[in-house]
Amino acid sequence: MTTRADAPALAARAASVGASPVREILALTARPEVISFAGGLPAPELFDAEGLRAAYDRVLTERPQQALQYTITEGDPALRAAVAARLTARGLATGPEELLVTTGSQQAIGLLATTLLEPGDTVLVEDPSYLAALQCFGLAGARVLAVPTDEDGVDPAALAELVRAERPKLLYLVPNFQNPTGRTMPAERRRAVAEVAAREGLWLVEDDPYGELRYSGEPQPWLAGLPAAADRTVLVGSFSKVLAPGLRLGWLRAPEALRRACVIAKQAGDLHTSTVDQAAAARYLADRDLDAHLAKVTAAYRERRDALLAGLPEALPAGSAWNRPDGGMFVWARLPEGLDATELLRTAVEHDVAYVPGTPFFAGPGDPATMRLSFVTHTPEEIREGLRRLAVALKI
Ligand code: PMP
Repeated sequence: MTTRADAPALAARAASVGASPVREILALTARPEVISFAGGLPAPELFDAEGLRAAYDRVLTERPQQALQYTITEGDPALRAAVAARLTARGLATGPEELLVTTGSQQAIGLLATTLLEPGDTVLVEDPSYLAALQCFGLAGARVLAVPTDEDGVDPAALAELVRAERPKLLYLVPNFQNPTGRTMPAERRRAVAEVAAREGLWLVEDDPYGELRYSGEPQPWLAGLPAAADRTVLVGSFSKVLAPGLRLGWLRAPEALRRACVIAKQAGDLHTSTVDQAAAARYLADRDLDAHLAKVTAAYRERRDALLAGLPEALPAGSAWNRPDGGMFVWARLPEGLDATELLRTAVEHDVAYVPGTPFFAGPGDPATMRLSFVTHTPEEIREGLRRLAVALKI
């Protein structure tokens, strides 16, 4: 018999990203009787399935040879033109050639990690930040540091100090209705951050999947549109929250040299994003009124946000605190000192209700009393029932 040697070990970066215990508990929430405030799942009954079916139909009837063929890495020209026009209408002058279509905006974050980061490089993030971005930077071998953050986002003075001390490559931000906190950076804060990036030399990644889901307040200026940092800001966008996440369509808008590097990295990754999905999305944007669809979605989500906020005083233990987001999908809450949201999740799930504990969203030690509550997946009536269950589960 021949001897056998073990296959070589996994790369350190793969081995370092462990399974989370929260994931195991949340796996139990797939039961239909569970009312879940955990997942960031858009309301499925609000998908414009009929509009999308018609768009796929037209594309496959009228141009099947193109719609089913390989295409260029940069993306469907009609889709890029439509995204550029929407951005321009929203106050950020953009040409189609400035965009790269990606397979979900998650891929855009991955491409930026590949093209900007050497193993050992430092990345700065908000505290807390989007979990899958933390994973992405971790997998690239980066050292991820949290910038002290308040209700208005990262603290510009602390940011400047960290940049001088740690020489990071990039700062990753979700300036509108952040995941997980629902917070929005006001204009002044954006300007201060852009100035630090300009003065100290830093890439800014402006991740904006939620910007069009606004229920109150006024839109704030794009970081990518502020003159101080326009040459070093990458804007990342997505159709997941405005149309449907299953389409896996996102995009990035980056200065030329970086965008070219991302095109090459994407070629190596998946050649291009699905031709038929891109063509159908472009058809949808030409034939339908996305803004009218968005008006329907935001009206429903506003009602759901208000239902959650109205019920929280009764649902969470006395001494809890939470914010009132102007848009997006999430409310960020903090239980009274000494309570642990991860420990309490098991009890909550036994009562057929779920949320996500806040700890995994922190790059550093984290705050065990925090939790993220998504308000978009369920109807107001289900939200009220979920909160009644939460009140029973958390009665300590
Ligand atoms: N960025 C943020 C902040 C998100 O919350 C999400 C999805 N939850 C994404 C990016 C990725 O979205 P997608 O890949 O579906 O575009």
